[in-house]
Amino acid sequence: MTLHRAIAIDGPAASGKSTLARILSQRLGLIMVNSGAMYRAVTWKVLQLGIDPADRAAVVAALRNMDVQCGVDGLDSTVSIDGIDPGEALRSEEVNAAVSAVSAVPEVRECLVSLQRDYLKLGDVVMEGRDIGSVVFPETPYKIYMDADPLVRASRREEVGEVDSVAARDKADSGRATAPLKIADGAAVLDTSGHSIESGVEAALAILAGQGFEMPAA
Ligand code: C5P
Repeated sequence: MTLHRAIAIDGPAASGKSTLARILSQRLGLIMVNSGAMYRAVTWKVLQLGIDPADRAAVVAALRNMDVQCGVDGLDSTVSIDGIDPGEALRSEEVNAAVSAVSAVPEVRECLVSLQRDYLKLGDVVMEGRDIGSVVFPETPYKIYMDADPLVRASRREEVGEVDSVAARDKADSGRATAPLKIADGAAVLDTSGHSIESGVEAALAILAGQGFEMPAA
């Protein structure tokens, strides 16, 4: 039993989840957990070991030997594997291309979901990902599913110089058997295509207030 609260933010790649989660974290004093970074970290290690990300048995065997540590630095989540924080490498082209295959492995999800739930022992969290409202914290009343036009999302990645096949990742993430990307029961859908960052934040705050989230006193 915990008294801490979780805001779940799910949605496809480049829908604005991280931007919103970061701003909510700062404004509301919540721990921001980037669950995608955890899947990326395991994927980075799989690639470092020279394992084919599509070889599920090999991925599971490697996972059994990994020391995955999650923590916080201020209000930000941290992740390290065998004592190493992969840093910028988490967003490399290679990791972008392999992460959906690794995150479709049920044993990987089981391991990381448990670490994600542990964050609630530390304080109130805003956690972004694909299955936060549906699997990680299905009981939380505070759920937002973010979306944006596929062309808008692809151009957001290009603008920051990232090589990322957003459409391919979304297809794999939505089509997998375990914890597919979907609109969780009770989630409010927020389409950010026509929103500025600030108006998107205001819309999210209105959704959360409607879901009964009590804002900290200013
Ligand atoms: O959020 P981000 O784009 O960094 O996530 C990278 C990948 O990690 C996603 O494409 C998805 O395959 C996986 N992921 C997941 N479940 C989450 C968060 C991320 O499967 N909760």
